[in-house]
Amino acid sequence: MSQKNSLSTPIQYLKGIGPRRSEVLAELGIVTVRDLLYYFPYGYVDLSSVQTIAGLKSTAIGASWVTVIGTVRTFDLLGRPPKQRFVVVLGDATGTIQLVFFRQVHYFKKAFQIGETLAVSGKVTLFGRTPQIVHPSIDRLNSGGDEEEGDQEGFLHTRGFVPKYGSTGELKEVHLHVKGLRKVMRTAVDDYVDLVEEPLPEELRGRLSLAPVREALRGIHFPDSVEALERARHRLKFDELFFMQLMLATRRNSLKTDLPGIPFKVESSLARALKERLPFTLTQAQIKVIREITDDMRSPKPMSRLLQGDVGSGKTIVALFAMLIAVENGYQAAFMAPTEILAEQHFRTLSGLLAGAPVNLRLLVGSQRTKLREDVLEDVRRGSAQIVVGTHALIQESVHFNKLGLIVIDEQHRFGVSQRLALKEKAAVEGKNLPFPDLLVMTATPIPRTLSLTLYGDLDVSVINELPAHRKEIRTALRPESKTDAVYDFVREQVKEGRQAYIVYPLIEESEKLDLRAATESYELLRKEVFADLRLALLHGKMASNEKEEVMGRLKRGEIDILVATTVIEVGIDVPNASVMVIEHAERFGLSQLHQLRGRVGRGSAQSYCILIAPDWLTKVSRRAPVLPGIDGENDDKQKSAKRLQTMVETTDGFKIAEIDLEIRGPGEFFGTRQSGIPQLQLANLMTDGSLLLEAREEAYRIIADDPHLRRIDHGTLRTYFDERLADAMTMVQGG
Ligand code: ADP
Ligand code: MG
Repeated sequence: MSQKNSLSTPIQYLKGIGPRRSEVLAELGIVTVRDLLYYFPYGYVDLSSVQTIAGLKSTAIGASWVTVIGTVRTFDLLGRPPKQRFVVVLGDATGTIQLVFFRQVHYFKKAFQIGETLAVSGKVTLFGRTPQIVHPSIDRLNSGGDEEEGDQEGFLHTRGFVPKYGSTGELKEVHLHVKGLRKVMRTAVDDYVDLVEEPLPEELRGRLSLAPVREALRGIHFPDSVEALERARHRLKFDELFFMQLMLATRRNSLKTDLPGIPFKVESSLARALKERLPFTLTQAQIKVIREITDDMRSPKPMSRLLQGDVGSGKTIVALFAMLIAVENGYQAAFMAPTEILAEQHFRTLSGLLAGAPVNLRLLVGSQRTKLREDVLEDVRRGSAQIVVGTHALIQESVHFNKLGLIVIDEQHRFGVSQRLALKEKAAVEGKNLPFPDLLVMTATPIPRTLSLTLYGDLDVSVINELPAHRKEIRTALRPESKTDAVYDFVREQVKEGRQAYIVYPLIEESEKLDLRAATESYELLRKEVFADLRLALLHGKMASNEKEEVMGRLKRGEIDILVATTVIEVGIDVPNASVMVIEHAERFGLSQLHQLRGRVGRGSAQSYCILIAPDWLTKVSRRAPVLPGIDGENDDKQKSAKRLQTMVETTDGFKIAEIDLEIRGPGEFFGTRQSGIPQLQLANLMTDGSLLLEAREEAYRIIADDPHLRRIDHGTLRTYFDERLADAMTMVQGG
C-alpha cells in the first residue's frame, strides 16, 4: 500500500496542508492522518434548529445564543473613527438583521459578497427597532461567486451540526482557523475513515451495542442528528476509557505474574510481641487490612497494594506489622515519607513501638551529617539495617540495599508515580537475581472511586474505614478576621486545660518569601504580645533539620504550648495532646490541605477544634446558600474559596471532601495529569462517566486475564491499536 493511503500517512500529504501547516499541527501532536481523525471538535454550530429572522424578534432578543441563515443583501462602512463600524444586512424569507463589526473593519469590509449565504450565531440585541448581532460567529454556507469554494463550503456546512475545532494562535498564522481545520477534517474523514479498522472485538461491540468505529468517527466530526452525535460520543468515550484500563490491566498483570516475589512466612513472633505491647487494641478495620496484607505477603507474587485510610485512622501501625514480617524473614524493609519532619516522626514513633525488640531501625534523610550518613548507608548495604525510614534520600544512587523485601510508601499522593516505580526498579536492578520486593503504598487522600480505578488501577486496594473508637468528632468553625482575638482567647483557655495548639499560616511556592516573612512576623507578635505568658515555638520548612527535629521533640514532650507553623505540618504529624488547630488565611488553602491540617488534631481522647480564619467578607458569603463552581472570572475564585470553607465546616468525611475537591478543581488539577499518568482524555469525564468507566474496566480486565499479551487472532486489531496509541502513555507512566 502506498504511504498516501494509510492512516500513518503524514498529514502534510493531505489536500490543503503541506509542510508549513503540518509543522504547526505537529506541535498539537497531530502528525499522521490517524492523529487528525482523533482530534475531536470541542463543540458544534447547531444548524438543525435554525430560527427565522422574524421569529427572532418575538423570542430571542437578548437570548444568549441564536443561529440564523440568510443571504447578504448589502453592506456598508458607516461613521468615522473612532466610531466607525462595518454593517452587513442579512436577509431571509421573513426579514432582515444587521451584523455589526467595530473591530477589524478593514478586514470585514472585504470579507463578504452580495448574495452569499451565511449561518450566523450570536446574541441578538435591538438597536432602535432593528435587530442586530455584534461580532457574530459566522459560517459561510456558500459563497455565490467562486464555484469551487462554494461547493466545498456548502457541502461542509449545511447539514446538521457544524464542528468547531480548537485552533491556536500558531494555527491561525498558517490560516488554519476554525474553518480551515474543518475543511481539512472533511477531507480526512471522507478519504480515510474507511481505512480505520475496528479495534474492538466484534463480540464485545455487539454485546455493549457500541457504534462501529468508522460510524463513530464520522459522527463525532460531522453528525447529522443529536442521536448520531450521542452514539458517536458514547462509543469514542468507551474507547478512551477502555484503552486506559487495558493499559492498567497490562501493567498490573506484568507486575503480578512476570516477576517472582517473596513467599513470606507470615507467622511472626516480632509482630505478636508488638501486638501485646500496644497501648490500645486494633480496630476491626486495621485487623482486616492487616489480614489482606499478610495474605499478599504469603503469596509468591509481589504485592502491589494501596492502603487508604483517612487521617488518623492508624495506618502507621499497620505498616509496622508488615515490616516486622519482612524482618522476621530475614529481609529489609524501607519506609519512605514525603518530608524530613514526617520521616523523623516515623522514626521516633517506630523506635518507641519497637523499644526492646531485636530490630535495628535506621533513619536516612538528606540533611544528615556526612559521617552519620555514611554509617547508615553502610548499615543498609550490609543488611544490618533491618528497617530503614527515610525521605527521597532512600532512592538516591548511593543507597544500596542488601536484601530488600518490602517497600512502604507513606502519603503516596505526595510522590509521583515515577518515584514509586523508581524505588521498585532500584530493588529490581540491585536485586540481581533476588526476588522482587512487596510494595505497600499508603494515602490519606481518599480518592473517589472512579479516580482510584484510573490512578491505581494496577494496585489492589485496602481501606481502613473506621477511626479508633475513643475519637470524638472534631468541631470546626469559620471565624472572620475581625474576631481573631476571641479565637486567641479560646486557644488560651485550651492551653490552660493542659492542651496544645497549632496556629498555621499559608505558604505557597509562588510567594514563598513573603509568606515566610508574614508567618515569622506573626510569630514574633504572638510570642511577645498575645501569648507572652505561654511557651511558643516556630516551625517552617526552611529551618535546618536538627532545629526542626528539636522543635518537634519539645512539642511531643509537651514543652511547647502553641506551635506556630507553615504548612510543613500538613502531613502526618502526630501529637495526640494537641487539640486546637487554628488556620489563618484559610481561604488560601486547598481543600485537601485544610482537611490534612485538621487531621493533626483529634488524635487523642480530648474534644478537638479546628478554627478557620478568613477575611470578613468571605465568611459572610459562605454563610449564604451553597455556592457552586463554574462562574466566570474573579467571582469564581471567591466562590471557590467560600465553597471550600463551607465544606470544611459541614463535614469531616474525607471521602466527601475529596469528591467536592475534585468537583471544584477538576481531575486534571486534582492530581496533575502528568504526575498521575492519566492519559489525556478528550471526551470522557472521570467524574460523570463513572458507570461507563466501570464497564470499560471490567471488559479490559477480562480480556487481559484471558489473553495477557493480546495474541489471540480476534484481538489482532486491538493489539495493533493498543501498541500504536498507547506506547507514549505507557512510557510516561513507567518512566517519568
Ligand atoms: P494515619 O493513618 O493518619 O497515618 P497514624 O498511624 O499516625 O494515623 O495514627 C494516628 C494516631 O492513632 C496515633 O497516635 C496512633 O498511635 C493512634 N492509633 C492507631 N491505631 C489505634 C487504635 N487502634 N486505637 C487507638 N489509637 C490508635
Ligand atoms: Mg500517617
